[in-house]
Amino acid sequence: MQTQINRIGVFTSGGDAPGMNAAIRAVVRSAIYYDRKVFGIFRGYQGMIEGDIEELQLRSVSNILDRGGTMLKSARSKEFRTKEGRRAAYEKLKEKNIDALVVIGGDGSFTGANIFEQEYGIPVIGIPGTIDNDLCGTNATIGYDSATNVVVECIDKIRDTASSHNRLFFIEVMGRDAGFIALRTGIATGAIAIMLPEKKQSIEDLISILDKASKRRKTSNIVIVAEGDELGGAVEIAKKIEEQYSFYETKVTVLGHIQRGGSPSCFDRVLASQMGVAAVEGLLEGESNVMTGSQNGKIVYVPLDEAIKHTIKLNPEILKLTKILTI
Ligand code: ATP
Repeated sequence: MQTQINRIGVFTSGGDAPGMNAAIRAVVRSAIYYDRKVFGIFRGYQGMIEGDIEELQLRSVSNILDRGGTMLKSARSKEFRTKEGRRAAYEKLKEKNIDALVVIGGDGSFTGANIFEQEYGIPVIGIPGTIDNDLCGTNATIGYDSATNVVVECIDKIRDTASSHNRLFFIEVMGRDAGFIALRTGIATGAIAIMLPEKKQSIEDLISILDKASKRRKTSNIVIVAEGDELGGAVEIAKKIEEQYSFYETKVTVLGHIQRGGSPSCFDRVLASQMGVAAVEGLLEGESNVMTGSQNGKIVYVPLDEAIKHTIKLNPEILKLTKILTI
């Protein structure tokens, strides 16, 4: 392994996701395992600019593996988007002689990291930590599995009341630009329709689905709406349906931030642990400007600009399932 990297900074940025703590723990423990010093940068890029940085020890990350959120806190930093902000961040890293970075976050955080690496040459590796699963080059992002499990648990509970009252529930889940959470949870809960930003569906299409369901005497119906659907969120879509179709009593639940909270799933803990170790090993082997990705059970390094390309598509096989299983 190369020796020029001695002091690694780690931080979480953008929206928090369950499993971020497990990733921090893995970065800290593996850096120390390889005899390097490791520094926690609090509140993402904003904390970097303000020098909110502390050395972490093995015990600093005890008892966090099972905790949601992030012990390093997260933030969105407007200042880091400016050249002056990034210069200030670089000065603070230099004060601590930090010579490499691990950023745990989503596409925005990686865009910032990519620019920073090009400007200042500090090696950086990204770990995909976002519930949205919207990064290219990895089968899963840390937090996605936990968030979808929370959504499924909530919808199972809602279905109990839906089926007792001939109700139609519109349930809004996170996903401004990507429908991964909606699609997966829709399949897992037997939703009659799934409204996705990636798929055009009209109110008339939805009414035709509901009409068929009523003729089959279906008494409980769940429609999952990704918040970024072009027809609007669950409240707007339910209103449009109510104006034109009255067979079912309509109810709306917006799951909101409950989706981000709680203990990470076993899957996310393992993925975060693998990626945390791979990020440190990658840096020590000379990798930079890459994201750790999981592809068919193997951890790989994906160039950051590939990871943030936004070309990732919903799986057509899974999309087909929705059609077959809701007849
Ligand atoms: P999530 O997917 O959960 O929203 P994210 O990492 O995409 O996470 P963002 O808010 O988009 O979250 O980005 C996090 C931070 O990254 C921003 O607050 C900003 O400081 C930095 N960042 C994003 N885009 C850029 C950019 N173009 N240049 C510099 N910094 C950026």
